[in-house]
Amino acid sequence: MIIGIFCGSSAGNNAAYMAAAREVGQVLAQANIPIVYGGGRVGLMGAVADAALAHGGDVTGVMPRSLVEREIAHPGLTRLDVVQNMHERKARMAELATAFIALPGGAGTLEEIFEQWTWAQLGLHHKPCGFYNVEGYYNPLLEMTANMVKEGFLHQRYADMLPFSHCLSDLLQCFKQYRPPVSKWSQPEGVNHGR
Ligand code: AMP
Repeated sequence: MIIGIFCGSSAGNNAAYMAAAREVGQVLAQANIPIVYGGGRVGLMGAVADAALAHGGDVTGVMPRSLVEREIAHPGLTRLDVVQNMHERKARMAELATAFIALPGGAGTLEEIFEQWTWAQLGLHHKPCGFYNVEGYYNPLLEMTANMVKEGFLHQRYADMLPFSHCLSDLLQCFKQYRPPVSKWSQPEGVNHGR
């Protein structure tokens, strides 16, 4: 398993977020699970990388050239892939990682994990995604996915793909047991809201 991590380029207002980021870095390093992430040394991103590297982990950063200065590329990574743009970053991370975890973060974090989740729904890849739900940060999103199902915009099987947990070992266990769902347009059921 190679875990792609998406998380805030900010630290957040609750010390529990940075603590969780450090825990993720440390636990993955100690389990010999390589990490792929955005490559920055700021916010939760930097905390994951620092902790993993401090515990001998293998950490690959993937960063668009335009962000190398702004998000301040982490200087001590195992490797840093500098790519041309955000699209290349996400494609490269999707290629390198075998599963994805979103820690607390902002719009960038959501955009990145949602892209991987939607690609998995379409069968473009078969890699699991999950949310590390530190202090219930993602509870409103869990409610939103339930609402998408209720209102007929998301099939239950695609909601079920996404574990939300405040326990990292639970998430890793879910990833090990992951069975990709039937992809979105693979059955000729005609137009079907919330497929
Ligand atoms: P944020 O959660 O907004 O702090 O952003 C976290 C990560 O998402 C950072 O690595 C950002 O470079 C990245 N990011 C920000 N905006 C976007 C976007 N529109 N598409 C993809 N990634 C983004």
